[in-house]
Amino acid sequence: MQLLLFGAPGVGKGTQAKLLSSKLSIPHISTGDILRQAVKDQSELGKKAEELMNRGDLVPDEIMIGIIKDRLNKIDCNNGFILDGFPRTEHQAIELDSLLEELNKEVLTIINLIAQENEIIKRLGSRRACKICGKIFTLKEIEGVSKCPNCNASNSFYLRDDDKQEVIRKRLKVFRLETEPVLEYYKKKRKVISINGLGSVDEINDKLLKILLK
Ligand code: AMP
Repeated sequence: MQLLLFGAPGVGKGTQAKLLSSKLSIPHISTGDILRQAVKDQSELGKKAEELMNRGDLVPDEIMIGIIKDRLNKIDCNNGFILDGFPRTEHQAIELDSLLEELNKEVLTIINLIAQENEIIKRLGSRRACKICGKIFTLKEIEGVSKCPNCNASNSFYLRDDDKQEVIRKRLKVFRLETEPVLEYYKKKRKVISINGLGSVDEINDKLLKILLK
Protein backbone atom coordinates (compact mmCIF):
# COMPACT_ATOMS: atom_id res chain seq x y z
CA MET A 1 0.00 0.00 0.00
CA GLN A 2 1.29 3.43 -0.92
CA LEU A 3 -0.23 5.99 1.29
CA LEU A 4 0.01 9.74 1.42
CA LEU A 5 -1.22 11.54 4.53
CA PHE A 6 -2.10 15.10 3.65
CA GLY A 7 -3.07 17.90 6.02
CA ALA A 8 -1.97 21.04 7.83
CA PRO A 9 0.97 20.94 10.24
CA GLY A 10 -0.27 19.69 13.59
CA VAL A 11 -3.32 17.88 12.27
CA GLY A 12 -1.92 14.55 13.47
CA LYS A 13 -0.30 13.13 10.32
CA GLY A 14 2.85 12.03 12.13
CA THR A 15 1.02 10.29 14.97
CA GLN A 16 -1.31 8.46 12.61
CA ALA A 17 1.49 7.58 10.21
CA LYS A 18 3.53 5.97 13.01
CA LEU A 19 0.56 3.84 14.11
CA LEU A 20 -0.30 2.82 10.57
CA SER A 21 3.33 2.03 9.86
CA SER A 22 3.50 -0.49 12.70
CA LYS A 23 0.06 -1.96 11.95
CA LEU A 24 0.58 -2.26 8.19
CA SER A 25 4.34 -3.04 8.37
CA ILE A 26 5.34 -0.41 5.86
CA PRO A 27 7.83 2.42 6.49
CA HIS A 28 6.76 5.85 7.66
CA ILE A 29 8.56 8.49 5.64
CA SER A 30 8.40 11.88 7.30
CA THR A 31 10.40 14.55 5.48
CA GLY A 32 10.19 16.70 8.64
CA ASP A 33 11.84 13.89 10.67
CA ILE A 34 14.52 13.39 8.01
CA LEU A 35 15.32 17.11 8.11
CA ARG A 36 15.30 17.27 11.92
CA GLN A 37 17.77 14.38 12.03
CA ALA A 38 19.98 16.20 9.53
CA VAL A 39 19.86 19.33 11.70
CA LYS A 40 20.80 17.27 14.75
CA ASP A 41 23.72 15.72 12.85
CA GLN A 42 24.70 19.16 11.50
CA SER A 43 25.13 17.61 8.04
CA GLU A 44 25.32 19.87 4.96
CA LEU A 45 21.58 19.32 4.49
CA GLY A 46 20.90 20.10 8.15
CA LYS A 47 22.86 23.34 8.00
CA LYS A 48 20.89 24.46 4.93
CA ALA A 49 17.52 23.47 6.40
CA GLU A 50 17.82 24.64 9.98
CA GLU A 51 17.12 28.33 9.59
CA LEU A 52 14.30 27.80 7.11
CA MET A 53 12.61 25.30 9.41
CA ASN A 54 12.95 27.53 12.47
CA ARG A 55 11.26 30.34 10.54
CA GLY A 56 8.44 28.08 9.36
CA ASP A 57 9.51 28.34 5.71
CA LEU A 58 9.77 25.46 3.26
CA VAL A 59 13.07 23.85 2.30
CA PRO A 60 13.63 24.26 -1.48
CA ASP A 61 11.86 21.77 -3.76
CA GLU A 62 15.01 20.41 -5.41
CA ILE A 63 16.49 19.40 -2.06
CA MET A 64 13.25 17.74 -0.95
CA ILE A 65 12.76 15.90 -4.23
CA GLY A 66 16.32 14.54 -3.95
CA ILE A 67 15.62 13.29 -0.42
CA ILE A 68 12.41 11.53 -1.47
CA LYS A 69 14.06 9.95 -4.52
CA ASP A 70 16.78 8.41 -2.34
CA ARG A 71 14.29 7.25 0.25
CA LEU A 72 11.74 5.66 -2.11
CA ASN A 73 14.54 3.78 -3.85
CA LYS A 74 15.40 1.94 -0.63
CA ILE A 75 14.44 -1.71 -0.51
CA ASP A 76 12.09 -1.34 2.49
CA CYS A 77 9.72 0.65 0.26
CA ASN A 78 9.14 -2.29 -2.05
CA ASN A 79 5.91 -3.29 -0.30
CA GLY A 80 4.68 0.22 0.21
CA PHE A 81 5.22 3.29 2.37
CA ILE A 82 3.45 6.12 4.14
CA LEU A 83 4.38 9.64 3.12
CA ASP A 84 3.98 12.34 5.76
CA GLY A 85 4.88 15.94 4.96
CA PHE A 86 5.65 15.37 1.29
CA PRO A 87 4.63 16.72 -1.22
CA ARG A 88 4.22 20.25 0.10
CA THR A 89 4.19 22.12 -3.21
CA GLU A 90 2.59 21.40 -6.57
CA HIS A 91 6.06 21.02 -8.08
CA GLN A 92 6.91 18.33 -5.53
CA ALA A 93 3.62 16.55 -6.34
CA ILE A 94 4.36 16.54 -10.06
CA GLU A 95 7.89 15.22 -9.46
CA LEU A 96 6.53 12.55 -7.12
CA ASP A 97 4.11 11.36 -9.80
CA SER A 98 6.92 10.95 -12.33
CA LEU A 99 9.12 9.22 -9.75
CA LEU A 100 6.37 6.72 -8.92
CA GLU A 101 5.84 6.06 -12.61
CA GLU A 102 9.59 5.55 -13.10
CA LEU A 103 9.68 3.12 -10.18
CA ASN A 104 6.61 1.31 -11.50
CA LYS A 105 4.77 1.83 -8.25
CA GLU A 106 1.03 1.58 -8.00
CA VAL A 107 -1.13 4.68 -7.56
CA LEU A 108 -1.06 6.54 -4.26
CA THR A 109 -3.93 6.40 -1.80
CA ILE A 110 -4.43 9.93 -0.52
CA ILE A 111 -5.94 10.66 2.88
CA ASN A 112 -6.69 14.27 3.72
CA LEU A 113 -6.89 14.97 7.46
CA ILE A 114 -8.94 18.07 8.22
CA ALA A 115 -8.92 20.34 11.30
CA GLN A 116 -9.73 23.96 12.12
CA GLU A 117 -6.77 26.35 12.37
CA ASN A 118 -7.58 27.42 15.94
CA GLU A 119 -7.59 23.79 17.02
CA ILE A 120 -4.22 23.26 15.35
CA ILE A 121 -2.69 26.30 17.05
CA LYS A 122 -3.88 24.96 20.40
CA ARG A 123 -2.51 21.49 19.67
CA LEU A 124 0.91 22.51 18.40
CA GLY A 125 1.50 24.98 21.22
CA SER A 126 0.78 22.30 23.80
CA ARG A 127 3.11 19.65 22.49
CA ARG A 128 6.66 18.97 23.57
CA ALA A 129 9.37 16.91 21.94
CA CYS A 130 12.12 14.87 23.56
CA LYS A 131 15.43 16.35 22.41
CA ILE A 132 17.08 12.93 22.55
CA CYS A 133 14.67 10.63 20.66
CA GLY A 134 12.43 13.23 19.01
CA LYS A 135 9.17 11.67 20.19
CA ILE A 136 6.31 14.13 20.61
CA PHE A 137 4.09 14.30 23.70
CA THR A 138 1.19 16.45 24.79
CA LEU A 139 1.70 18.51 27.95
CA LYS A 140 -0.97 16.35 29.56
CA GLU A 141 0.95 13.16 28.79
CA ILE A 142 4.11 14.40 30.49
CA GLU A 143 2.55 16.22 33.43
CA GLY A 144 4.77 15.48 36.44
CA VAL A 145 7.01 13.23 34.33
CA SER A 146 10.76 13.98 34.28
CA LYS A 147 12.01 11.08 32.14
CA CYS A 148 11.05 10.54 28.52
CA PRO A 149 8.65 7.55 28.43
CA ASN A 150 10.18 6.52 25.10
CA CYS A 151 13.96 6.71 25.65
CA ASN A 152 14.26 7.33 29.38
CA ALA A 153 16.29 10.55 28.95
CA SER A 154 16.05 12.95 31.90
CA ASN A 155 14.62 16.47 31.58
CA SER A 156 14.69 16.28 27.79
CA PHE A 157 11.31 17.84 26.89
CA TYR A 158 11.36 21.07 24.92
CA LEU A 159 9.14 23.26 22.74
CA ARG A 160 10.36 22.90 19.17
CA ASP A 161 11.27 26.26 17.63
CA ASP A 162 8.77 25.57 14.87
CA ASP A 163 6.01 24.97 17.45
CA LYS A 164 6.31 28.50 18.86
CA GLN A 165 3.20 30.66 18.36
CA GLU A 166 4.56 33.02 15.70
CA VAL A 167 6.17 30.17 13.78
CA ILE A 168 2.98 28.08 13.94
CA ARG A 169 1.08 30.96 12.34
CA LYS A 170 3.72 31.25 9.64
CA ARG A 171 3.62 27.48 8.97
CA LEU A 172 -0.17 27.61 8.64
CA LYS A 173 0.11 30.52 6.20
CA VAL A 174 2.70 28.64 4.14
CA PHE A 175 0.37 25.62 4.21
CA ARG A 176 -2.55 27.69 2.91
CA LEU A 177 -0.52 29.34 0.18
CA GLU A 178 1.84 26.61 -1.00
CA THR A 179 0.57 23.25 0.16
CA GLU A 180 -3.23 23.44 -0.09
CA PRO A 181 -3.04 23.74 -3.90
CA VAL A 182 -1.48 20.25 -3.89
CA LEU A 183 -4.86 18.91 -2.80
CA GLU A 184 -6.56 20.53 -5.79
CA TYR A 185 -3.88 19.01 -8.03
CA TYR A 186 -4.64 15.54 -6.66
CA LYS A 187 -8.41 16.02 -6.69
CA LYS A 188 -8.27 16.64 -10.44
CA LYS A 189 -6.34 13.41 -11.01
CA ARG A 190 -7.61 10.89 -8.48
CA LYS A 191 -9.75 10.21 -5.49
CA VAL A 192 -8.89 11.96 -2.24
CA ILE A 193 -10.40 10.54 0.95
CA SER A 194 -11.09 13.36 3.42
CA ILE A 195 -11.60 12.62 7.08
CA ASN A 196 -11.96 14.73 10.19
CA GLY A 197 -8.63 14.94 12.03
CA LEU A 198 -10.28 15.89 15.31
CA GLY A 199 -10.98 13.22 17.84
CA SER A 200 -8.92 10.75 19.82
CA VAL A 201 -5.83 9.23 18.23
CA ASP A 202 -7.36 5.72 18.47
CA GLU A 203 -10.70 6.80 17.02
CA ILE A 204 -9.03 8.34 13.98
CA ASN A 205 -6.69 5.40 13.58
CA ASP A 206 -9.63 2.94 13.62
CA LYS A 207 -11.39 5.06 11.01
CA LEU A 208 -8.27 5.06 8.82
CA LEU A 209 -7.73 1.31 9.11
CA LYS A 210 -11.37 0.65 8.18
CA ILE A 211 -11.01 2.77 5.07
CA LEU A 212 -7.64 1.33 4.09
CA LEU A 213 -8.36 -2.33 4.70
CA LYS A 214 -11.86 -2.54 3.24
P1 AMP B 1 6.91 18.76 9.51
O1 AMP B 1 7.47 18.06 10.69
O2 AMP B 1 6.41 17.84 8.43
O3 AMP B 1 5.85 19.80 9.88
O4 AMP B 1 8.12 19.58 8.83
C1 AMP B 1 8.88 20.51 9.59
C2 AMP B 1 9.54 21.51 8.64
O5 AMP B 1 10.42 20.83 7.74
C3 AMP B 1 8.59 22.28 7.74
O6 AMP B 1 8.02 23.41 8.38
C4 AMP B 1 9.53 22.68 6.59
O7 AMP B 1 10.39 23.72 6.97
C5 AMP B 1 10.39 21.43 6.45
N1 AMP B 1 9.80 20.45 5.49
C6 AMP B 1 9.33 19.19 5.77
N2 AMP B 1 8.87 18.59 4.66
C7 AMP B 1 9.04 19.47 3.64
C8 AMP B 1 8.75 19.45 2.25
N3 AMP B 1 8.16 18.38 1.68
N4 AMP B 1 9.06 20.54 1.52
C9 AMP B 1 9.66 21.62 2.08
N5 AMP B 1 9.96 21.72 3.38
C10 AMP B 1 9.66 20.66 4.18
